[in-house]
Amino acid sequence: METRRPLVAGNWKMHLLGAEAAAYCRRLLAAELPPLPEVVLLPSFPLLAAVAEALGGSPVGLGAQNLHPEPRGAHTGEVSAAQLVDAGCRWVLCGHSERRREQAEDDELVARKARAALAGGLAPVVCVGETLEERRAGRTFDVLARQAETLPLDPRLVVAYEPVWAIGSGETATVEVAEHAHAFLRTRFERRGGGELAAALRIVYGGSVTPENAAALAAGRGVDGFLVGGASLDPERFRAIISSFAAPRAAPRGLP
Ligand code: PEP
Repeated sequence: METRRPLVAGNWKMHLLGAEAAAYCRRLLAAELPPLPEVVLLPSFPLLAAVAEALGGSPVGLGAQNLHPEPRGAHTGEVSAAQLVDAGCRWVLCGHSERRREQAEDDELVARKARAALAGGLAPVVCVGETLEERRAGRTFDVLARQAETLPLDPRLVVAYEPVWAIGSGETATVEVAEHAHAFLRTRFERRGGGELAAALRIVYGGSVTPENAAALAAGRGVDGFLVGGASLDPERFRAIISSFAAPRAAPRGLP
């Protein structure tokens, strides 16, 4: 039996206002969620308080979409790990491809953020993945190796394989593409951190996951959950995606 608990996280990006977020949580929590998958919502900073209150006492976790690598200081407009913990977060996204592209975040900065998250008591969900250009040039695994190379070796780390060409595009990776990338990443972590770490590490898939394709992807070997963008904005669609991990995964998934 697979021992890694599946994780399904909803990245709301820059969507929703406070009242909408609270209404969303009420709808998501209106019926019991399957207990097996760990469920996390990742709203933008101004929504954290409203969502923390709306989720209060529920099994759904709260996370943020970014943090600053320093623990405190003169960094106008930035948010620290401690502030996120204070706001009720246990999770934080690092290195989403939209931030790598729009804010020019590089691998070193992303790794610093992941380390800052861990040091501050947050579990980082670090996004890695190749662009279409990189895939077409046959560089997918070079890119993944480079992006994974400096990430902290900590079992609280979650790696999100998010091929950039699949994000928000409606084009999902095939199960085989996801399995191959996850296996490659797990092997890289095994080399750096050993078998125990690699076996514990959760590697989730992200990129146009929908209720329609979730079950097939969830059955993929080494797919330990999802990072969901667009489809997480509708609580009923998000619930359907969560439910794709409701049953224990039967096949033993050791290292590839
Ligand atoms: C994301 O933004 O992390 C994402 C996977 O988006 P989408 O599900 O919309 O492709």
